[in-house]
Amino acid sequence: MDLLNTLVDKGLRRELPTREEALAVLGTSDDDLLDVVAAAGKVRRQWFGRRVKLNYLVNLKSGLCPEDCSYCSQRLGSKADILKYTWLKPDEASQAAAAGLAGGAKRVCLVASGRGPTDRDVDRVSDTIKAIKEQNEGVEVCACLGLLSDGQAERLREAGADAYNHNLNTSESTYGDITTTHTYADRVDTVQKAHAAGLSACSGLIAGMGESDEDLVDVVFSLRELDPDSVPVNFLIPFEGTPLAKEWNLTPQRCLRILAMVRFVCPDVEVRIAGGREVHLRTMQPLALHLANSIFLGDYLTSEGQAGKADLEMIADAGFEVEGADQVTLPEHRSQIGGCGDTGGCHEGGGVRGSAPAVAGEPRTDLVAVRRRGAGTDLAPNA
Ligand code: SF4
Repeated sequence: MDLLNTLVDKGLRRELPTREEALAVLGTSDDDLLDVVAAAGKVRRQWFGRRVKLNYLVNLKSGLCPEDCSYCSQRLGSKADILKYTWLKPDEASQAAAAGLAGGAKRVCLVASGRGPTDRDVDRVSDTIKAIKEQNEGVEVCACLGLLSDGQAERLREAGADAYNHNLNTSESTYGDITTTHTYADRVDTVQKAHAAGLSACSGLIAGMGESDEDLVDVVFSLRELDPDSVPVNFLIPFEGTPLAKEWNLTPQRCLRILAMVRFVCPDVEVRIAGGREVHLRTMQPLALHLANSIFLGDYLTSEGQAGKADLEMIADAGFEVEGADQVTLPEHRSQIGGCGDTGGCHEGGGVRGSAPAVAGEPRTDLVAVRRRGAGTDLAPNA
């Protein structure tokens, strides 16, 4: 297929595809799916070989958020029966992190619900980062605390944070349909603050919220422009008790096309399969490793993932290897300049409207398990 040859050539040169090309990937047929995966897989192997980076989530503070993000089980008014607890103490968080690191993770992602941290919260998280770093040499720590105020990114950096995560989630034009308590511009601002403070920026999306193909391409092109080092791709987990509970829009094939599109647009960036991996990719997870070079090990913030041991077996069975703490994730050109800003602009093409509609997936509520173990409980974590 000419499209795929073009995309592979561009990906190997770190050249941005046009919006039309990105849309065409989402519009490919099931008959072409393996060709799409093989093509994006070439780009993935060029920049990341067969390595899979493992990340481990520690939910520092769960539920009771005043914001109204429709996709989130921790939102204001959520009826989802999730764990709710306030800040873990540094030693509790460090213990949870240690389980993930022992399981093979090299990055710990410290997440807290809420609009954004107070300065006191930044102090708490700084203590937690220091505790984790003291006990685990070489660990990467990413903080995800919501919208940042001036100076907070710098303070987290000083405390030893390596990265900051704040997702754009969806396109600018649909953002207001998903959340009303803060804006898309607020989110962009926080990613820029993290970048400016010298933190490795991590910013991604959520697919499956009823968005169009154009929205998905929009958000991925916007991410490319923000130049994060890592892009988590979440597949909506339609939690009962949230406004998006009925949005079962994804199929494994659709998820693979989305990951391939992200890989072509962000060829040399850490593409991470995030929440919803087990629920939506299901038995196609190993195929997705040909597209993404990073996953979360074990459980998510408020839902349970497959057993950490099953993650490791899947990686080995698919012919990939877990990235070691001594291996550098990003290709040399990115780790040196701290970004992909030398790869050209992100505004090619004028965009087309109306390509293949998403095929609705069957609700798989049987696969959604609320997290009942690990951080905030007395039970051992999944790692
Ligand atoms: S700000 Fe974060 S925790 Fe709060 S509702 Fe939005 S996504 Fe959920």
